[in-house]
Amino acid sequence: MKSITKQKPFEETKGQLDGLDRVFIIGCGTCTTMTKTGGRDEVLAMKEKLQELGKIVTGWTVIPTACDEMTEVAVKENNEAIGNSGCLLVMSCALGVHKVSSYLDKPVIPGVDTLFIGLEDEPGNFHEVCAQCGQCVLGETAGICPITACHKGLVNGPCGGTNRGKCEVDKEKDCAWTLIYQRLNAQGRLELMRKQQPPKNFQAAPRPRTVKIV
Ligand code: SF4
Ligand code: SF4
Repeated sequence: MKSITKQKPFEETKGQLDGLDRVFIIGCGTCTTMTKTGGRDEVLAMKEKLQELGKIVTGWTVIPTACDEMTEVAVKENNEAIGNSGCLLVMSCALGVHKVSSYLDKPVIPGVDTLFIGLEDEPGNFHEVCAQCGQCVLGETAGICPITACHKGLVNGPCGGTNRGKCEVDKEKDCAWTLIYQRLNAQGRLELMRKQQPPKNFQAAPRPRTVKIV
């Protein structure tokens, strides 16, 4: 499972760097490398673009996994070049941006937008698999998440618009509840289609979300 991102339009990045002329760029060797939004190639392309704008790029690095503890090591290793910069442009998902900001007082600018947590089903094709709702029903929906796979996020069966197994919102897409029905049927667990899920308990995942593991 990966954080799926898209690169921000360059005009937006340019605007966020307005008045910040010395930039250190950080990429991530995991998720944004996989999505080609913040790996080595994208970092180097960004470096060139910023230099064409007249910015001074004091250095760059691609941290193996920008959201873990190695980020602190990478920040220390690049202490001098980061010290010479006025800001950091971080081309990792928002987790990496948070991580970098936790070690530095300088402005930290995200170079990508974090879209969702997802899986790659075929090369270059990513889909959302979990919205982290805090009340997982996968055990009763044959492993298909109705929150992310259904356009309306319905947890108690299909809407009235499902038609011949296709979704009324996107006719190219299979209706999530038809898929759930088929898989439950194959498992001999169709009775679960009749089980009513209670109203969503938004207290199950209050924000900010925190968990203490003892
Ligand atoms: S029901 Fe869907 S959104 Fe909720 S935790 Fe399970 S997989 Fe994630
Ligand atoms: S047709 Fe199926 S997938 Fe589409 S919104 Fe209705 S229940 Fe959800």
